[in-house]
Amino acid sequence: MSIVSNLNTIKANLPEHVTLVAVSKTKPVPDLMEAYEAGQRIFGENKIQEMADKYEEMPKDIQWHMIGHVQTNKVKFMAPFVSLIHGVDSLKLLQEINKQALKSNRIIDCLLQIHIAEEETKFGLDENELDELLLSSEFKKMKNIRILGLMGMATFTENQNQIKKEFTHLKSIFDSIQQRKDAQQCASTMDDFSTISMGMSGDYQLAIECGSTMIRIGSSIFGGR
Ligand SMILES: *Cc1c(COP(=O)(O)O)cnc(C)c1O
Repeated sequence: MSIVSNLNTIKANLPEHVTLVAVSKTKPVPDLMEAYEAGQRIFGENKIQEMADKYEEMPKDIQWHMIGHVQTNKVKFMAPFVSLIHGVDSLKLLQEINKQALKSNRIIDCLLQIHIAEEETKFGLDENELDELLLSSEFKKMKNIRILGLMGMATFTENQNQIKKEFTHLKSIFDSIQQRKDAQQCASTMDDFSTISMGMSGDYQLAIECGSTMIRIGSSIFGGR
């Protein structure tokens, strides 16, 4: 199967409210260009240097999403162009993004990554840490970031019930924050809080059933890595 037909197959069955991020990490620019020529404009990368290199080489109407774990000292390399940072999991990181966004004279969109998997290895905030972050005075002062929603990764397992439980958990956290927002208990940086980034090649259909609005698909488009 070609990249274009893979892409078209996935898009053909995608509800209108779900955004497709084409995860192109480790893939060469000509592969990305195939997807680009077929109309894809949102690409996801998990290494800042690789994303910056591809950004330099490729058309400027691409929206670059950072989906990987972000080291604070590398934020400056993507601040001038990144479109959405999915993996924000600490106040310290958010402060650095805010600072670098200000330097670039931008407002940078972010998702807060929530730890929903059983595995210890996956990054993300737990519910208490999320609350702490949202209620902190430092957070309320930030002017150069926007929190568009939440991101999560399910446990790597064949067990569909387990995955469903984790996605449903993320959706319930999302709903509770939206309720707070509706009650005007959130900072204005959260006015556009509406995105749930969950679902990858192996589990995106289930993720959509559980309320995902943004899926991150790599191998089903570009082949194995
Ligand atoms: C690699 C990656 C994906 C895409 O995974 P596939 O299984 O290839 O679709 C999605 N999200 C994150 C955070 C990733 O690192």
